[in-house]
Amino acid sequence: MMLDGIPQDNKIKPHEVVDWRLKILVLFGTRPEAIKLAPVIHELKKKFFQTIVVSSSQHKELLKPLLKLLNIETDFDLRIMKKNQTPNEVCSRILAKLDKILAEEKPDLILVQGDTTTTLAGALAGFNRQIVVGHVEAGLRSGNLYSPFPEELNRRLVSQIANLHFAATERNRRNLLAEDVPTEKVFVTGNTVVDTLRHILKNLTPSARINELIEETKGLKRILLTTHRRESFGERMSGNLKALRAFVEKRKDVCLFFPVHPNPNVQEVTNEILAGKERIFLLEPLDYKDFIALMKSTWLIVSDSGGVQEEAPSLGKPLFVLRENTERPEAIRAGVAKLVGGNSFTLARMLEENYSIDTWIKSVKEVSNPFGDGRAAQRIVKIIEEKFTKKIKGGTTVQRSLF
Ligand code: UDP
Repeated sequence: MMLDGIPQDNKIKPHEVVDWRLKILVLFGTRPEAIKLAPVIHELKKKFFQTIVVSSSQHKELLKPLLKLLNIETDFDLRIMKKNQTPNEVCSRILAKLDKILAEEKPDLILVQGDTTTTLAGALAGFNRQIVVGHVEAGLRSGNLYSPFPEELNRRLVSQIANLHFAATERNRRNLLAEDVPTEKVFVTGNTVVDTLRHILKNLTPSARINELIEETKGLKRILLTTHRRESFGERMSGNLKALRAFVEKRKDVCLFFPVHPNPNVQEVTNEILAGKERIFLLEPLDYKDFIALMKSTWLIVSDSGGVQEEAPSLGKPLFVLRENTERPEAIRAGVAKLVGGNSFTLARMLEENYSIDTWIKSVKEVSNPFGDGRAAQRIVKIIEEKFTKKIKGGTTVQRSLF
């Protein structure tokens, strides 16, 4: 549908009531989604789009301090989290609650990010209401439907639904084209995590507690561990924690920092294996800037996280990826990361090998980040602007539907 003409320069004064402005609903629910959508939200607001920010609160406790740090205010909180929910319950509760907001707000576009259950539910809710869906960080593929679970299927399904696919890398774009996503709907923008990381690095002021920890462990080789993915739960996680404990016990110049995820599957096994051990520091989940400050101070990062793989190249930090496969092989190709696989003996061997001959660890330097250059959000918003507007004689019109 064509609407009234808007000024060529598209500059709107914030106090003006302008019905024709595009209404964009941005949905997130977990820590990484908030980190990666924050720059997009700021850019949308800068350009005076009507922006509705919705949190599903899939990661309730982790989100609050993060949103404060990133200066993000939410318009709606779906508050869907309950203890021990299955992905089906999370998905169905988001669908039901979000649908009411969509009916009321009638956004022109829904932006979702990544591959969580929130992402899938948001895309599906938009589809069922025939709202245009934009997918930020589209096209990641591990090649194994069950790993990461349920994220690999989530992102594949979102790629079937989305109308605009913002791929972080050329490889991600190729993955989408191989699944018959039309080329004109795919845009390589870089990953917005690099935008946020750069923003935080500009003014990195860690808390007193983190400064103290760094001071206390001066001269030691610091390992930073994060592990909380579903595929790591159980024997695999306990094996990895034991391997790390044995390594720290044996090598007196090594210490371990582990911000422990609130998930009980992580908490229990961590307390059992790592609590009270010398040179092992069990921490609460860290504020993003504290986490980055610790990453910067490490000798080695060991993690099953996706986002950490994207951050390590910007920080020039060596990373062992605690996974059997990765949908982010760019970090490995950049020489920053190594895949451990699912076996804790391999982890033990890799720790020892790289301690004895630390050529690789020393060789890892800040590299040009294969995931982005810090301007992904600007590109995404520009593409949205271009897609939804059309030049006409004497101005520009907004077209609300891309179908
Ligand atoms: N992170 C953080 N505090 C922590 C651990 C991780 O802020 O204590 C950040 C990390 O820098 C990365 C993101 O959280 O940007 C990763 O989130 P997570 O591992 O939960 O999800 P994934 O990236 O695997 O989807």
